[in-house]
Amino acid sequence: IEALRMDRIVKAYGPTVALDGASISVRSGETHALLGENGAGKSTTVKLLSGLIRPNSGSIRIFGDEVHLNRPTDAHHHGVQTAFQEISLVRDLTVAENLLLPNAPTGIAGLLRRRHGEALVREHLERLDLGGINPRAEVGTLDLPQRQKIEIARAVFRHPRVLLLDEPTSALSGRDIDWLGGLIERLKADGVTTIFISHRMAEVRLFCDRLTVLRNGKDVGSGEVSEINDDE
Ligand code: ADP
Ligand code: ADP
Repeated sequence: IEALRMDRIVKAYGPTVALDGASISVRSGETHALLGENGAGKSTTVKLLSGLIRPNSGSIRIFGDEVHLNRPTDAHHHGVQTAFQEISLVRDLTVAENLLLPNAPTGIAGLLRRRHGEALVREHLERLDLGGINPRAEVGTLDLPQRQKIEIARAVFRHPRVLLLDEPTSALSGRDIDWLGGLIERLKADGVTTIFISHRMAEVRLFCDRLTVLRNGKDVGSGEVSEINDDE
């Protein structure tokens, strides 16, 4: 069964054709890379699947159902959550508030529920080995690797069926890369399908089962990562 199928997607920004008939097929439970150089159409694909923009033509199926992702809520309702490269956390809210959005309760009546929410976030962070990050810290006070990890943790907090990781290593190095690898493995064990957007074959090799290569808005190849030679 396919978690995601994009068929002959066209997306133009004025005269610029960002996606030129690209088709992408992602199997349920796999970690699937979208690999391509700058301008290949990766960000456009992320925005389409996150409900931020709409295609000019082509179809998107999620677990077999044709979907129309007109806004982020539509993507969420189909189980698609995105960790964006341009981190989309609200800087002057706390980590907990960001994870609990849009349902962060306010006012005195919300105090108890807020405490409860904060405890849920704390447990979630501990489960993800991010217990060192204070849920009460304002996002603006975190360093960039912490922010990128919280961006990813937020998407996971919402129980995705399909998790989109948009260049998730851009602010990470060393042990944080190992952390990401461990997280992807655990999500896979839970049956989550992960789509890993990248411009680096080396990390695709490290993290992914299969890949689709995008070039100039077209899918120019797809298959098992293990079957790709080093010089390709
Ligand atoms: P990638 O993420 O692989 O670098 P993009 O999807 O960002 O690729 O871009 C694909 C093409 O679409 C590029 O030629 C880019 O310049 C163009 N493009 C992307 N976003 C816009 C936009 N908002 N307006 C005009 N052109 C855009
Ligand atoms: P729900 O699906 O629970 O109704 P919404 O679609 O109303 O949630 O989302 C509320 C806001 O939170 C939106 O602005 C949405 O873009 C943002 N949001 C939710 N999840 C994420 C995420 N994983 N990455 C980026 N923004 C998100």
